[in-house]
Amino acid sequence: MTDQINFGSFSVTRINDLPRFALDLDFLLPGATLEALMPFKAVLDGDHVDFATSEILLGVHSLLIRDKGFVALIDTCVGECKPRGRRADWHNRRASGYLEALAREGLRPEDINLVMCTHLHADHVGWNTCLQNGEWVPTFPNARYIMGREELAHWAAEEQAAPGVANHGAYADSVLPIVAAGLADLVSAGDTVADQFHVCGLPGHSVGQIGLEMSSSKGDILFCGDAIHSPVQTFFPDWSSRFCHDPALSTKTRRDLMTSAADKGTLLIPAHFRGALGMRVTSRDDHFIPEFI
Ligand SMILES: [Zn+2]
Repeated sequence: MTDQINFGSFSVTRINDLPRFALDLDFLLPGATLEALMPFKAVLDGDHVDFATSEILLGVHSLLIRDKGFVALIDTCVGECKPRGRRADWHNRRASGYLEALAREGLRPEDINLVMCTHLHADHVGWNTCLQNGEWVPTFPNARYIMGREELAHWAAEEQAAPGVANHGAYADSVLPIVAAGLADLVSAGDTVADQFHVCGLPGHSVGQIGLEMSSSKGDILFCGDAIHSPVQTFFPDWSSRFCHDPALSTKTRRDLMTSAADKGTLLIPAHFRGALGMRVTSRDDHFIPEFI
């Protein structure tokens, strides 16, 4: 288990919200089979796949980035007190330990400068807000919240078409209050955030998913959200998730980003890895081999 990586002047630390989130393999990845994964069991068993129950194992956490007083969170998980009736382990959660995990890093919610949402699915925006006196208010009142322009427009339209239905109601309780408070900064591919994060488009999993790429003394790092859910997809890049808006585009994005990462030695840090925080990949035939970091 790696919970922190140090890169000279800055560090990346995992802040857990739901450290073990299990879904049936062929539910999350339609068409996937345990038999196909058997040759890779030594790499995947334990942290990433439960071969006894045929479940894929994900973690839901934020990635805390600290750089000389600069404090950012990438993605804000499921959160607490959110009505998520269609998913029992997300519904009206209490005592997640998330804010306590931040406190163990010496941080109060007021200390966060920047919150970056790779996309606006319910398990990536939950801690954007918290419940105070019956109202959803920004959890991190001093932060600018970075959201993809196209992604926000998509969910705003979905909300208008069917209020409270799409995306477990997360737009209304976890996105809109941030916009209403004037804390949202909208970005598009090609933009730069805080002088060091290059915004790139990673469409397919969601309409307007963005990745955040930065340089370090140890090479480039790409925070790539749900473009990759699990290292299972290094061996089978064509397995898109049930939750992908456009599975074919999601596959293309995943293949392109792993091909580029293999060429450039980029460290990929997806949103839901357990054990390792991320990986570098090498190209092998029609798939990739992970080296966990
Ligand atoms: Zn997602």
